[in-house]
Amino acid sequence: MTVANASVTPMMAQFLEIKAEHKDALLFYRMGDFYEMFFEDAVAAAEALDIALTKRGKHLGQDIPMCGVPVHSAEGYLLTLIRKGFRVGVCEQLEDPAEAKKRGSKSVVKRGVVRLVTPGTLTEESLLEARRHNYLAAYTEVREEGALAWVDISTGAFSVMPCPPVRLSPELARLAPTEVVVSEAKEADLAEIVTESGAAITPLARASFDSTSSEKRLTDLFKVGTMEAFGTFTRAEISAMGAIVEYLDITQKGKLPLLRAPVREAAARTVQIDAATRRNLELTSSLSGGRDGSLLSTIDRTVTAPGARLLERRISSPSRDLATIHARLDSVRFMAEQGRLSQNLRDHLRKAPDMDRALSRIALDRGGPRDLAGVRNGLEQAAEISSLLAGAELPSLINEAAQALVGHDELLDLLDQALVADPPLLARDGGFIAPGYDGDLDEARTLRDEGRGVIAQMQADYATQTGVSALKVKHNNVLGYFIETTATHAEKMLSAPLSETFIHRQTTANAVRFTTVELSEMETRILNAGNRALEIEKRLYDTLKEAILDRAAEIGQAASALAEIDLAAAFADLARGEEWCEPTVDDSRAFDIEGGRHPVVEQSLRKQGGEPFIANDCELTATNGNAAIWLLTGPNMAGKSTFLRQNALIALLAQAGSFVPARKAHIGLVSQLFSRVGASDDLARGRSTFMVEMVETAAILNQADDRAVVILDEIGRGTATYDGLSIAWATMEHLHDVNRCRALFATHYHEMTALSAKLDGVENATVAVKEWEGDVIFLHEVRKGAADRSYGVQVAKLAGLPDAVVERARVVLDALEKGEREGGTGQKAIIDDLPLFSATPAPAPRPQTTSQAEEKLAGVHPDELTPKEALQLIYELKALT
Ligand code: ADP
Repeated sequence: MTVANASVTPMMAQFLEIKAEHKDALLFYRMGDFYEMFFEDAVAAAEALDIALTKRGKHLGQDIPMCGVPVHSAEGYLLTLIRKGFRVGVCEQLEDPAEAKKRGSKSVVKRGVVRLVTPGTLTEESLLEARRHNYLAAYTEVREEGALAWVDISTGAFSVMPCPPVRLSPELARLAPTEVVVSEAKEADLAEIVTESGAAITPLARASFDSTSSEKRLTDLFKVGTMEAFGTFTRAEISAMGAIVEYLDITQKGKLPLLRAPVREAAARTVQIDAATRRNLELTSSLSGGRDGSLLSTIDRTVTAPGARLLERRISSPSRDLATIHARLDSVRFMAEQGRLSQNLRDHLRKAPDMDRALSRIALDRGGPRDLAGVRNGLEQAAEISSLLAGAELPSLINEAAQALVGHDELLDLLDQALVADPPLLARDGGFIAPGYDGDLDEARTLRDEGRGVIAQMQADYATQTGVSALKVKHNNVLGYFIETTATHAEKMLSAPLSETFIHRQTTANAVRFTTVELSEMETRILNAGNRALEIEKRLYDTLKEAILDRAAEIGQAASALAEIDLAAAFADLARGEEWCEPTVDDSRAFDIEGGRHPVVEQSLRKQGGEPFIANDCELTATNGNAAIWLLTGPNMAGKSTFLRQNALIALLAQAGSFVPARKAHIGLVSQLFSRVGASDDLARGRSTFMVEMVETAAILNQADDRAVVILDEIGRGTATYDGLSIAWATMEHLHDVNRCRALFATHYHEMTALSAKLDGVENATVAVKEWEGDVIFLHEVRKGAADRSYGVQVAKLAGLPDAVVERARVVLDALEKGEREGGTGQKAIIDDLPLFSATPAPAPRPQTTSQAEEKLAGVHPDELTPKEALQLIYELKALT
């Protein structure tokens, strides 16, 4: 710091120069033991971190705002800044301050940004969630063709897929990247989609997306002549992958992470699930935002972080490929049948560290001895696990995994011999190479340690020589070794003859410090030996690191294999513990669930210790290109939403390769999964909620094919009764006649139950309740047939509405029902405003005697409507009633 103080202006000049190159990042400017921030950076960081904002010197006559964080605790501050949406440029001192001094007193220490820290490029254990991926994605369009590439630099996994613009939002929802790189020319267009997915958007120069230079960048990186070595890629895919590599180069300042060969993912291989459906089914995070309460957290029994990340991947992208699904189910069945073996495997897996992430830190030179040991311990467990598996008849996936676990003996032996059992985090202080591994190191260490022994002996000798028994030999960083006595004893040593041997160094408040020629010599010897030992350890670290990186690909495969085994065993454990069954998945359009349960609701009921979860059947088997739809009615709180979602989750779990929460399940391959909830449940978002509901419903009607499974919960609820009913009605007809998919449709419009008579593929079902002394008791049992009434008033009573209001409501309801029966029209207007009471057994709307509204609807083709036109239509329909 003295250096900087002595020459404020040159330092500021250096700061401003570096800052100018990193305008979009906060600059962590290294000053000795601190990272300091200046100007607007300081103001922003002080607020974000809640630390003091001070001043340092002046610039152009103005005070310079400043704040700083200690280097040793910088990671925590970094994390806060990244979470709050900042990017941080870490600007280090690139030379020893002494070097700069040699050039002249005004000279500034050389500094440069060694790394840009951004949400998508984190690798530190403390900055990452162990059980979740951290993806950096890049999206590009080359002519009409889009592509999305993504990488987890903490593991090196690199993927790409074709992605037409309309698929961007669902794919981002599936992958949940933390940062998306786009061409600066496209930033404005894409900002909304990207930010909505929760990721930060990072614009990059157009040139970074140029497909020709991208190809070159990629072939150089992977050391291949052409990218065809890895498959056939479109121009857009090459461009997106190239942009990722370019961005890594920029942020890591030329030090590229270990990227695995890119894997091309075909969209057609996974079940398509859009953002709204994911949110709705609470797949990986709950509606309230966290992981808790999500499907993922409920079913996660993996014992390793890579296993947990694999589970997240499977749940986010269930497969649409029968062979893949069957192979995964085979592994789970194997583990379920081999209970003892599977427990043993899990015991070993628990001891296996996260090799993927250790590997990537080692490659980026951010690793330490503990990461080397991570690889060693992981490979050790891999070997143990492979011998446990030996001899058993293995299903194909486990067999493949077992192959990847062997063949690491040479590296394992090396690491075993070279490293101590429990090495320190940082290589800086040494102490991680095992004794006996390197002769020179042992010698240097002995010298250093003997030196320490000699010093202890010297203390005893000096005490005898001076007669001062309280004399101590101590060490600090400023004086090195010194002899210390209290002020009272010092007199003697400060005068002859002792003063000839004991050279005074320092007097403090209550001590006087001396040295001797002998002590300084000893110190130099210890220091030299210590430094030499450190140097040797540093060199050995590098050789071990190289040995590991040489086998990075194989280690990566072993890590994936362990994750695969972990997941299969975890699914088996879940299936046994929760009594889940193996689903039959085939090419049919069956959807036959016996005794299905909702895993999350079931678990939460169990936690509350109340009533057990009631299992329910669902028989939606569709034949010959027809639709199969259940129209589900029943009062609020009966369990309609739970039933709908549990069936969607069962299909999803089956295709993710898991057993399912049911007694028996037969599922014909599902291509797309859609789930929508009527608007009033979705108030969190800013747009007109009804509009959102309609846009989302339009998306289903436009996209669902005959292998889709669609779940609609109270669609149409977001508007007045007859509007809502008309929309729900028309939607149902479209699903039945055009989409011809399997669907569950929950509604409180009892009028709709008449549709089952008109549409072959529609059946009525209801969630049973019992009325007892004017109260309603929920049975949570799904039965065929229509509900007889809505029980709205009873539910309101249960909810604690004042008795007077409940009584009054009963009277109004009676009046309304009576009016309706007698054909009165005056009450209709009231009914419009009281959707709770709309479930009176209204005369079934007869399609033959069409109203104007129905006539208008008949001529509507939802497929061809834009959301705006849909809304317009609704206004027109409304005007007709
Ligand atoms: P609806 O959609 O009909 O309003 P929900 O599906 O939201 O009803 O269910 C309301 C509550 O009833 C749930 O929170 C749950 O506690 C309970 N519930 C739902 N289904 C079941 C079931 N099958 N067995 C036991 N309790 C259930």
